[in-house]
Amino acid sequence: MADRKISTPLGSQGDAVPLGGPGSGNWGHAGRKGKRGGSLPRWSAMSVKSGKTAQIRQVVARSGARLPSKLSDDPTERAGQVRKAFAQMAEAEGRLKAITSDAGQKLREVSNARQRAFSAAVDWDAPVAEINAVQDRINAEWATRYNGALEDWRAKDAAYNEVRNGRVARARELLLAAAPDTPAKSFKWEAVEPRNITMRSQVMKNAQVAADFVNGLVRSRSVASEVGMPAMLRIKKGSVRASCRENDVKCDRKTSVRTLVHEFGHFIEHYSPVPFAHAVAFLRSRTQGEKLVSLSAATGNSGYRPNEQTRPDRFLSAYVGKHYAHGSTEVLSMGLEYLYAEPLWFATQDPGHFDATLTAIWTYDANR
Ligand SMILES: [Zn+2]
Repeated sequence: MADRKISTPLGSQGDAVPLGGPGSGNWGHAGRKGKRGGSLPRWSAMSVKSGKTAQIRQVVARSGARLPSKLSDDPTERAGQVRKAFAQMAEAEGRLKAITSDAGQKLREVSNARQRAFSAAVDWDAPVAEINAVQDRINAEWATRYNGALEDWRAKDAAYNEVRNGRVARARELLLAAAPDTPAKSFKWEAVEPRNITMRSQVMKNAQVAADFVNGLVRSRSVASEVGMPAMLRIKKGSVRASCRENDVKCDRKTSVRTLVHEFGHFIEHYSPVPFAHAVAFLRSRTQGEKLVSLSAATGNSGYRPNEQTRPDRFLSAYVGKHYAHGSTEVLSMGLEYLYAEPLWFATQDPGHFDATLTAIWTYDANR
């Protein structure tokens, strides 16, 4: 069959026809108002530009990163696979941000040029009606360029926001999908409220969200799992610094989901030796030979007690390296907290800690 390459595309837009199609860069849309459009190869169709540009569609399509169809059975390799998908999402977000800010810059330039044209054309001593007429004329002259730049920026800004707003939810979906298929016991909590607190406080809802997140990371979806030892949520009056000792999680009525995820991390480290061993090994490997310094000095936060010390390393927070005489760590707690609140940032800014957190949580089993 003869090569069907056509050098001149059909339609009045000629070579300006954008490469269309969701993510493909190869297809144009041939549709009529009120009818569903069909996709045709670029060389045979006149592209109808609507909403997102081809460039935006391509970046958006790639931002919905997927996990590989076959996840490794090795926890460290598997963590690396998740991290790669997160890095891809973060990269797409960065590219969209750059594209959007370029469009914003262009819009400002057009707007400034329009303003300069107006300033040059107007006679400031003329009656207001005349000045308004000049303004209208300049606006009409610049309408195509200005509206084009505005529309372009709006489309790009909307695409960027869509990706940015969906990123944490999407990342959590991927974390769920990546949880290994093992019958680990479910993580559970029970609340202990002081007698004088009668209303159901926000912390109860937050604890459920936090527990669901932790369970999503550890629990198999295809194997029925029993419930392990519960974390006891001791809700205090007033405002307290949340903490966890053995299975007692101290909190107040407003403790956030993020903080509860952190405290549940301590609980898991305490009750499950394998994740604990992972956390200790990671902390040692990263901080070998480092001297202990006070947390206040390392973080610039004077709220820590003088006996609270850390090996700050290059962790995302000096708190990750916190030293406990009884051997506990902040590795799993801080890691889970980042995984919940800032998964893409975590994956790209401290890949080692990211992998160690997933590897540790995937070996959780309250039975051991
Ligand atoms: Zn902690």
